[in-house]
Amino acid sequence: MFVEGLKCLRCGQKHAPTKGLYTCEKCGGKLEILYDYDSIADVVGKREFAKRRAGVWKYFELLPVASRKNIVTLGEGGMPLLEAKNLARELGLRRLLLKDETKNPTASFKDRPMSVGLSKAVEFGARKVVTASSGNAAIALAAYAAKAGVGCYAFVPAGAAAGKLAQLSMYGAHVVKVARKGVGDPTYELMRAAWGKFGWHPIPSCGAFNPYQPEGSKTMSYEVCEQLGWRVPDWVVVPVGAGTLLSGNAKGYFEFEQLGLVKGVPRLAAVQAEGCAPLVKAFREGTPPYEIPTWPNPNTVASGLVDPYPWDADTAIPAIKRSRGAAQAVSDAEILEAEKLLARSEGVFAEPSGAAGLAGLRKLLEAGVVDRSDVVVVEVTGGGLKDVRTAMKLAEEPPVIEPELDQFKKLIK
Ligand SMILES: *Cc1c(COP(=O)(O)O)cnc(C)c1O
Repeated sequence: MFVEGLKCLRCGQKHAPTKGLYTCEKCGGKLEILYDYDSIADVVGKREFAKRRAGVWKYFELLPVASRKNIVTLGEGGMPLLEAKNLARELGLRRLLLKDETKNPTASFKDRPMSVGLSKAVEFGARKVVTASSGNAAIALAAYAAKAGVGCYAFVPAGAAAGKLAQLSMYGAHVVKVARKGVGDPTYELMRAAWGKFGWHPIPSCGAFNPYQPEGSKTMSYEVCEQLGWRVPDWVVVPVGAGTLLSGNAKGYFEFEQLGLVKGVPRLAAVQAEGCAPLVKAFREGTPPYEIPTWPNPNTVASGLVDPYPWDADTAIPAIKRSRGAAQAVSDAEILEAEKLLARSEGVFAEPSGAAGLAGLRKLLEAGVVDRSDVVVVEVTGGGLKDVRTAMKLAEEPPVIEPELDQFKKLIK
């Protein structure tokens, strides 16, 4: 393993990589994983990567797992970068590419981080893992836990979407609904309590309580670089909840630049739903990450982006700034319009959260932030079959006719 150590982002304390640590021993802060890039550059490079099969674990040397025998995989990653010519024409954009994450094992990009998070827990000897989420993160974790024969507990909000709960239960997770009480997030509080009391390994989707899993999202960026012939696009547009995905993506680009595999990094655009946009608001108003208030009454059709407190804003906001990026909020109507447009013009069916990036790109183009001559990658992070109920509302009711060609002729457009 090429991990040199873990460093607390809050107090700066360094820790050895050998301990089963999830947060800073000294202050409870978030840990960052540090690698020995010089040694990594000695063993892998463009030629070596070209020989390996696509997928998350192709980049083993840049992931925090010591032994390959602990890898728990369902074939995650290696997702297509689709040339979106129809959409590019429609938007008047020189070149638009879709990083299509809908084809992952559980139909969202979360399989990348959860494969890494669960593999690391297995390496630490975990028998049980615990998470707090109603959505794609818990679903992905449950699938990998099932594969590894590890028990999985998921604390979900009382109002969680029925469809996602069904997928979660199918993977055999122990799902417990938790009622709201007070201001904090009760599911996170119970997750932390179960971790402290029973020693279960915490694997939520944010880096604040598990520094290993966000590393999986770096592999999306590695793939984009390779798929573009070792070049970076001008912009990468990322749908954002807690800011974990964007932080992981950013780390991936900066690492490939540091390893000398690409020149420069793309500008990163964070897109949130207007009904829950604490990170966009903080970015625009210059609020320091640790002072961001919890978003009151989150409400959006993009269920995957509902994180009232952006746990990873402390890594996401600096990453946006360092890349000279942008942050944009979009309305539910704009998200749904983008969901339809993606499916109709490019054949990619996304859930609302997965289409939010495209909605954000349209606004950034209108505002002149993204230029029409730019090469843009939009991340499509989750599949449409996860939220059929929303798609049913968008779909038109088909006409009913007698089985007569004459009647049908009248309908031909
Ligand atoms: C989790 C998720 C995101 C991004 O969320 P972060 O909390 O910012 O990592 C985006 N799209 C989908 C579909 C998701 O499930």
